[in-house]
Amino acid sequence: TESTEEWLQQYVDDWIAFYRKHTHEGEVASYIPVLQEANADHLGISIIGKNGTNIRSGDTDVPFTIQSISKVLTFIVACMERGISYVLDRVDVEPTGEAFNSIMHLEMKQVKKPFNPLVNAGAITVASLLEGKSSDQKLEPLFELLEKMLGYRPHLDIDVYESERDTSMRNRAIGYYLLEMGYLESDLNISLEAYFKQCSIEVTIDDLAKIGMILANDGFDPSTDEEIIPRQVARLAKALMLTCGMYDASGKFAAYVGIPAKSGVAGGIIALAPARVRDEELPFIDGCGIGVYGPALDKQGNSIAGIRLLRHIANKWDLSIF
Ligand code: GLN
Repeated sequence: TESTEEWLQQYVDDWIAFYRKHTHEGEVASYIPVLQEANADHLGISIIGKNGTNIRSGDTDVPFTIQSISKVLTFIVACMERGISYVLDRVDVEPTGEAFNSIMHLEMKQVKKPFNPLVNAGAITVASLLEGKSSDQKLEPLFELLEKMLGYRPHLDIDVYESERDTSMRNRAIGYYLLEMGYLESDLNISLEAYFKQCSIEVTIDDLAKIGMILANDGFDPSTDEEIIPRQVARLAKALMLTCGMYDASGKFAAYVGIPAKSGVAGGIIALAPARVRDEELPFIDGCGIGVYGPALDKQGNSIAGIRLLRHIANKWDLSIF
C-alpha cells in the first residue's frame, strides 16, 4: 500500500543520512587512476521489488563502472553459452580467503583450475571461455543480456577502460600465470581486453537493483513474465555471490548480512533477497533486488558505508536467507 511505501522510504532516507557519515572511514580506489575522481561522500541505494515498487534514496543518479560485479554476469553468459558443466570443469566454486587480485594463492595451493569466477583469476579465465574472436564479439551476448534486463544498452566508460588497461600489470601477471598453466581457452590479450571492458561498463544503482531482482526470482523477470536466465544458472550465480562475492570479507558478509551480494571497486554493490513467501506485512522485500553505490572502500575493496547500510537493512527487514 502507499502508506507502507512511504514508511519504507522514510526509513531508507534516515539510514542513508546516518551511514553517509561512515563514508569518511573509507577511501576511493586509486590503483585504477581514473577511479580516484569519484566523490568519496556519495552514498545511494535503490531497491526494486518483484511487484515493481522502487525505493530510492541518497545519490541515486551517479553513474559508475560495474567493475567486479560484471564477473557474475560473464559467468552467467559463459554458462548459457557453454553449459554449466563445461564452465565448472574450468573454474571452481570455492572461496579463496585472499584478496580479489591475489596471485599467490594460485601457485601455493596447487589447484587444477582457478578457485572461483568472482576473483580476477577466475574472471579472466571465464572471459577466455566466452565465444568470439575479438573482445567485442566475446562481450556482445553480455550486452544483449543487459539490454534484455535493463531495457537499454549500457555503454563503456572509455576513460576507466583505458586507465585500467594502462595500469594492468597485476592482471597481466595473473593472465600469464593462467596461460602458463593452460587454463585459458582463447588468446590472453583478447581475454584481458574483454575483462577490462566488462569492468568498465557504466551502470546506476537502479540497474543493479533490477538485475538483482531478476536473480532473486531465479532468472525470471516478473515485469515482463520472461525467463531471462535459466533457473539453475541463476541459482549457481547466487551461491557464488554468497560464498565469494565480497572477496575476503565474504564470510563476514554471509554471517552478518546473510544475502547474496557482489561488490566492485568503483563502489557498487548488487544484493538481493531470494524470493520466498514469508513476511505478509512486507511483500515488497520478498524477491527484491538492491543496488548500492558508495565509492569510499574498506581494506578489502568493498564500499564501507554500503556494507553497513546493507547490514542494517538486512537486519531490520529480516532478509537473511538463514
Ligand atoms: N577491474 C578491477 C580489477 O581487475 C575489478 C576489481 C574489483 O572490482 N574488485 O582490478
